[in-house]
Amino acid sequence: MTSLHCSACASTLLTTSLTRQRRLFSVRTRQPVQRLRRTGGAIRATAVTAEDDMKLKKGIAEFYDESSGIWENIWGEHMHHGFYEPGAVVEISDHRSAQIRMIEQSLVFASVTEDPLKKPKSIVDVGCGIGGSARYLSRKYGAECCGITLSPVQAERAQALAAAQGLASKVSFQVADALNQPFPDGKFDLVWSMESGEHMPDKLKFVSELARVAAPGATIIIVTWCHRDLLPNEKSLRPEEKRILDKICDGFYLPAWCSTADYIKLLESLSLKDIKAADWSDNVAPFWPAVIKSALSWNGLTSLLQSGWKTIRGALVMPLMIEGFQKGVIKFSIITCKKPE
Ligand code: SAH
Repeated sequence: MTSLHCSACASTLLTTSLTRQRRLFSVRTRQPVQRLRRTGGAIRATAVTAEDDMKLKKGIAEFYDESSGIWENIWGEHMHHGFYEPGAVVEISDHRSAQIRMIEQSLVFASVTEDPLKKPKSIVDVGCGIGGSARYLSRKYGAECCGITLSPVQAERAQALAAAQGLASKVSFQVADALNQPFPDGKFDLVWSMESGEHMPDKLKFVSELARVAAPGATIIIVTWCHRDLLPNEKSLRPEEKRILDKICDGFYLPAWCSTADYIKLLESLSLKDIKAADWSDNVAPFWPAVIKSALSWNGLTSLLQSGWKTIRGALVMPLMIEGFQKGVIKFSIITCKKPE
């Protein structure tokens, strides 16, 4: 094994699927190394087993099975951050429109066209939650949209909402793994992943699958939580930064984080083009204080108390998201690219 940084940051590591058993490769040496795994609240290097992957996936599925109804009751159908003007004072009632704005800003950033002849006709929503983005995008472009999630409760609810909104013939949802998507190569002209990448234990496999299902010329949009880029003289995050991320990982069923620069390297390694990224951390700053405020409302508290332990544990780490953003260790990133024609 080559030297590893035992940190929440897997930033010098890229995954590759050269072998049937996935391994991590050092960017510098391209030698196989073992993947960083978080175990018992710490990050350390251990062999990756199918059992580890199964455990993570089961945890994610159960977390969203349990918590999605509560989220929908309080926040509605979008399970992602809102996009705000930096420094804006916002009312609670502004948050749903801010979530729509997040979708719209992402499309603008990626230059997705509204030209009737060139607009997306076939979209995949990878990590679709209860399908808020999928339905929005399908309606906006008149496109077919397939959503995938690990949570059976989410898939069922997403489909029910589609039927209720008259979109049943256009959008469909299923339980499937983003790292092994049930779609043929080149199927979609817009590949959308809104705040699901942070759950993916193998970032190369994740972006490889996004690229595989993208049609030639398709746009890929990844909006995700990253840790800050490392400085040239740094090998890992600082211990106090790792501690914050570790606790968030435990609460939200996340594997090791990576940086925006890591994503860019991965996309470059797949020869994707027009790669662009931006840090929208300032634009999402009002979000978590608002979520916490709503969780502390009567409706929020009673809903939380009626939920399960996984939801409560998630709620308990929400203040750490604010701390992580304020300390600059968490970055809210958009990364977009195109598949070559
Ligand atoms: N994009 C949605 C939901 C974000 S919540 C929205 O903006 O509303 C994160 C979603 O990622 C959940 O639906 C979860 O099931 C999904 N997810 C996490 N890991 C996944 C995986 N390996 N395969 C498919 N979906 C996954």
